[in-house]
Amino acid sequence: MENKIFQSEKKEFKTSDSSIYSFKDCPNRCVDGYVVDPYTHKRKLCSYCAEKRKSLIKTNSVDSTSKASIKELLNLPEYYLGYDFNIDSVFPDYAIKYLEETSLLAVKELLSDLVTKVSVGDLPKRSYMFNLGSKVYETNFIYPYLMRAYMVGVTVSPLVYSLDLVSARTALEAGIVDESLPFKYRDLLRSDICICVLDAGATKVDIGAVKGLMQLRASNNKPTIIFTNLWNRLIGDLCDVEADSMNVAKLISVEYVKSSNTKQVEEPSEQTKMRTKGTVSEMSSSDFRNLLSSHNNL
Ligand SMILES: [Zn+2]
Repeated sequence: MENKIFQSEKKEFKTSDSSIYSFKDCPNRCVDGYVVDPYTHKRKLCSYCAEKRKSLIKTNSVDSTSKASIKELLNLPEYYLGYDFNIDSVFPDYAIKYLEETSLLAVKELLSDLVTKVSVGDLPKRSYMFNLGSKVYETNFIYPYLMRAYMVGVTVSPLVYSLDLVSARTALEAGIVDESLPFKYRDLLRSDICICVLDAGATKVDIGAVKGLMQLRASNNKPTIIFTNLWNRLIGDLCDVEADSMNVAKLISVEYVKSSNTKQVEEPSEQTKMRTKGTVSEMSSSDFRNLLSSHNNL
């Protein structure tokens, strides 16, 4: 009990039984954050629960049963707070000099546009794979994007790391419920928003699991957003520069420059090469683009 002195009192909330989008104390008795208008018979956002979602993110309140905050339920790190988005924090000043201006502007515009749209419940029309290289702080896009999706009431999966995805799929196949994982595999298939991170150590199995998830979500007409810093042949199977569908991701990358005179794309670091040794062979992003264009020419 003495420990209590050191714990700050956190505000609590109680969600409805069906989802984290509506609350037990909702006077409109909405379902998943929506009510049916008695006159038009159309679903509309429950304003009470919409306000409440916003306020509990601001106050970092915790669910009274699980003692988890929304950021924890969305598998976001402890230090992250709020939902502010600033495109300059994704591309910090020190990184800008390494990035080729035209491709940088195009990517900045796309990321900002995705955040603006999701903030009003407008979902991506296609799947995306972002490969922005090691100098870009992609999490400064990912975290506010997921928070804003939750706030506006579109269904959002917790942030998916490929390692957890493989475990969740294995658990499903074995008929086991693994409570230690941040999500259940089936729940990922129907959410409106799902962001997957393929880390530098991703193996053939991890990449295959992300591909499988994107395809299954596509069959439910749901897009998947993938972030990775890997360039290799298997990644090439997930994406295409020309893609405009849910089941193949449109590749979005930013070119790196080594000096103002020599334009060169970023090569995989020695560290990345070591981590992927024995799993999937790495290639440079220029080799990768050549691989994709050879696909297109088939
Ligand atoms: Zn409500």
